[in-house]
Amino acid sequence: MRLESPRSLAHAGRMLDGVPFELSGGCTCRGVRYRVTREPLIVHCCHCRWCQRESGASFALNALVEAEHVALTEGEVDVVHTPSASGKGQRMSRCPSCRVTVWSNYAGGGGAIRFVRVGTLDEPDRLPPNVHIFTASKQPWVVIPEGATRFDEYYQASKVWPAASIERRERLRERLGRW
Ligand SMILES: [Zn+2]
Ligand SMILES: [Zn+2]
Repeated sequence: MRLESPRSLAHAGRMLDGVPFELSGGCTCRGVRYRVTREPLIVHCCHCRWCQRESGASFALNALVEAEHVALTEGEVDVVHTPSASGKGQRMSRCPSCRVTVWSNYAGGGGAIRFVRVGTLDEPDRLPPNVHIFTASKQPWVVIPEGATRFDEYYQASKVWPAASIERRERLRERLGRW
């Protein structure tokens, strides 16, 4: 079930045609701007009820990237503590003015992994999901493409992530779960 270089991960950690990987994004009022300088470890499309409620929509699209590769370039973020399904909470980084959440952190990754909200990128189309999770609670009209990697609930990264992403996560090991 391991992912084989899905399109958005095919160039993990490399230069793309000599140009370093870079994506920019920000909130609606443009008070907060950020830059992602590394290919995501993985992109989740989460269909859990918690993400549905937090987004007010049908799923959340999150690109998991090491915190040091997600840099604020404008403004500051307010960190809001929100309950999460695990009971350990989620910390959402929001624009202090327009309140859009640009990324969040969960207990598992702690401060080391930011879950960047793909919809806040200037070019969100560049990061389609690699896995669909919590599909047991997906809204029935949402049709997951045939052949897509999907899980009724969560999954074990060690069995699914591309080898390059596993290596990168290994390097974070000491910091995972810490704030
Ligand atoms: Zn804003
Ligand atoms: Zn979710």
